[in-house]
Amino acid sequence: MRRRDFCAASLIGALALSLAEPAPAQAPRLKAVATFSILGDFVQNVGGDRIELITLVGPGGDAHVYTPSPADARRVADAAIVFVNGLGFEGWLSRLIKTSGAKAIVETAKGVTPLKSETEHGHNHDHGGLDPHAWQNVANAKIYVGNIRDALVRLDPAGADVYQANAAAYLAKLDALEREVTSAIERIPPERRKVITSHDAFGYFAKAYGLQFIAPQGGSTDAEASAKDVARIIRQIRREKIPAVFLENVSDPRLIQRIAQESGARVGQELYSDALSPPDGPAGTYIDMVRHNIKALSAALSP
Ligand code: ZN
Repeated sequence: MRRRDFCAASLIGALALSLAEPAPAQAPRLKAVATFSILGDFVQNVGGDRIELITLVGPGGDAHVYTPSPADARRVADAAIVFVNGLGFEGWLSRLIKTSGAKAIVETAKGVTPLKSETEHGHNHDHGGLDPHAWQNVANAKIYVGNIRDALVRLDPAGADVYQANAAAYLAKLDALEREVTSAIERIPPERRKVITSHDAFGYFAKAYGLQFIAPQGGSTDAEASAKDVARIIRQIRREKIPAVFLENVSDPRLIQRIAQESGARVGQELYSDALSPPDGPAGTYIDMVRHNIKALSAALSP
């Protein structure tokens, strides 16, 4: 009997102890959704341990032509906050948000100076003629990060200090990255600062850093270049002595390979435009992606 009493007492004691001292501040993490991998990286850097993040279009995925699954609708419905690019990038999104009844939607590109889409090729997304690829200018990435920080602070004021500190640390890294890009491009002779890519994803990069990108496929990955377009590009490469052509991780490689073969231009390493690589690849984060792209451009464009 004594022994049983002792057990019961110690059990009650343990129970009282566990009620009095909950495990060290395991507040439930804020459920957040980001639409694509590059944006997911920004959100994770700011949200840190306070958020539980789901990214809908993962590494290597093409967010222009994505088809959301029923599971995505549930994820959006469950999330406390949904981060989107905006500028018409996620053409499939408005329906998903309508059907899932998402709560807070944050357009992270809000505040960037939008560029017009260069081409009038067929798009399957409705972006009102704007170029959605604003993240390719590091200065714009900083605007995204500021928007993400402000939205998280509004929604979860208890974490304000954490979000502000995380954002400040990440913004400092982006400042350093911006200087890296500028000095890498400055080392390329001005007359060689022109390249061909398969879809028109580098407008913001081109404008910010002074490179000329020519894209036979237009602004989306679902548009087809005609034989006439290809012939025109090949003539242009020869006439303007364009040193290199590039593939992107989201595009069909055959078009660029054909252009390279017929024009004699160098084929550069794959550029990352709309999606990160898997974590163990060369562009597992936004910062690594930009570094990879400037290395690839420098290598192919230097004399
Ligand atoms: Zn794109």
